[in-house]
Amino acid sequence: MAAVAGVVSAAAGAASCSGFGGESPVGRPSGGQPADLIVVNARVWTVDPTRPEAEAVAVTGDRIVAVGTRAEVEKQRGAATRVIDAAGRFVMPGFNDAHIHLMTGGAELDSVDLKDAPTPAEFARRIDRRARTTAKGEWILGGNWDEQQWPGAPLPTRALVDGVTPDTPVFVTRYDEHMSLANSVALRLAGVTAATPDPPGGVIVRDAKGNPTGILKDAAQAFVFKVIPRPSADERGRILRRALGHMASLGVTSVQDMGPDPDDVSVYEALASRGELTARIRAVPAEVPLAKRLESGPIRHHPSAFLRVSGAKGFADGSLGSTTAFFFEPYTDEPTSRGLLADEMQPLDGMRARLVAIDKVGEQLCIHAIGDRAISMVLDLFEDVRRANGARDRRPRIEHSQHLAATDFTRYAQLGAIASVQPYHAIDDGKWAEKRIGAERAKTTYAFRSFLDHGVRVAFGTDWPVAPLDPMQTIYAAVTRATLDGKRPGGWVPEQKVSVSQAIEACTMGAAYAEFEEGNKGSISVGRLADLVMLSGDPFRVAPEAIADLRVTMTMVGGKIVYERR
Ligand SMILES: [Zn+2]
Repeated sequence: MAAVAGVVSAAAGAASCSGFGGESPVGRPSGGQPADLIVVNARVWTVDPTRPEAEAVAVTGDRIVAVGTRAEVEKQRGAATRVIDAAGRFVMPGFNDAHIHLMTGGAELDSVDLKDAPTPAEFARRIDRRARTTAKGEWILGGNWDEQQWPGAPLPTRALVDGVTPDTPVFVTRYDEHMSLANSVALRLAGVTAATPDPPGGVIVRDAKGNPTGILKDAAQAFVFKVIPRPSADERGRILRRALGHMASLGVTSVQDMGPDPDDVSVYEALASRGELTARIRAVPAEVPLAKRLESGPIRHHPSAFLRVSGAKGFADGSLGSTTAFFFEPYTDEPTSRGLLADEMQPLDGMRARLVAIDKVGEQLCIHAIGDRAISMVLDLFEDVRRANGARDRRPRIEHSQHLAATDFTRYAQLGAIASVQPYHAIDDGKWAEKRIGAERAKTTYAFRSFLDHGVRVAFGTDWPVAPLDPMQTIYAAVTRATLDGKRPGGWVPEQKVSVSQAIEACTMGAAYAEFEEGNKGSISVGRLADLVMLSGDPFRVAPEAIADLRVTMTMVGGKIVYERR
């Protein structure tokens, strides 16, 4: 063994004349064993400032054991070592999405897709196909149908689908969510008949004889929503597997799931215990029930490399789209309103007491705040928490951190608060946001560059399924700020653009830091988890507009390849 170790340290010594600087030593597998796997002939972007670029990576077990030149890493090669030739491709740490809604996103992927069904016949055919793979007693939901694309735009009726769904309840919703189609099974379960009166704010659409056609508008949809059972563990498992497949295909190797249903967390635990998770999940429970649970004793977690339940998610206000984000000044297009403070913030003393209690047991605070006044109030609360419980490395987070009062950037920095932001919202909301808040406030909106300039740690996420989970869209949005309507190709508030390198950092190390995982994740460095991705092109070498078109060609999690593009 001594001789093998000697060979390895000779290789480490040779690193100093390799042209890579040689400050960071080449790692070695424990006991001098050859690596399980090496990736060679790559352009490795490490997100490790001590060695930003490399050519090759070696992995043993679930960890990275060497990063360096091909010659350096080849030293780890044994007879059984798998060698992956990257053919010059770009390799970087796996993406960590700092803010998603995992099961809502998974359910959206999992539901029947009727959006582009061009005819009623195709609509029925898709429901038929779905019914054949739907377990007894389960519902067919979702759909996002749009009758406007059908000849004559007739509303669908239950007669269209009853023949193919004699035992399966169907309740599929129009894409705007203002009406849904129930089949006869669903109407029966909901007790809706010809004798049922229209509820206030809703309409039961009826045929010439007065019988319900199956279309329920607005408040009438509640008749059926009330009787849809909560998904079973099996259904939840299926949704999670679908979501995991989607994540792997996009190179998302870690996610931070905000405010999950406790029944979903049980399913995460079940898959984790069977070794079936192909991405690492951090579940952040909602703060109100968490604070209640604290009353009956400390919270126990059983952290693993694939699942952690930690932190607390809370709400300070609403959203810009619904004019419920809470601002100091009125909305430009609605001068009587400054938005709304969330229920959780009223009374403020209650919120403060809960946050202090949660912080006291060492949990991280992750509070949704979008309007400038809501953000200021949350920063005040973070100060109160620090005053109550003393200084420590607590990294409180403001989820969305969308509209900043100019004086608050420095307060983030002073508090060590993290800006957990979703760049895709900037190019989406950017189409109309200025109408709502005016040009002056727009300057410090989605102000990613200002955060970085003030030394604030930024973590990127998507809020999936509100925005696409694809990290290339996130990087594209942060780098170009080109609104989705094509009207601002030079970028909306271009001073707030960030560099490709800064965007990649925020999707990897920034997100890892935001979950206290920077020692395990976020860079391709010796000792870290072997979570990495290969891209179809080099984001530094393509035009910024082309970044959104890059694809992940290989995803590795813990040394195992969980996705390969063919
Ligand atoms: Zn969210």
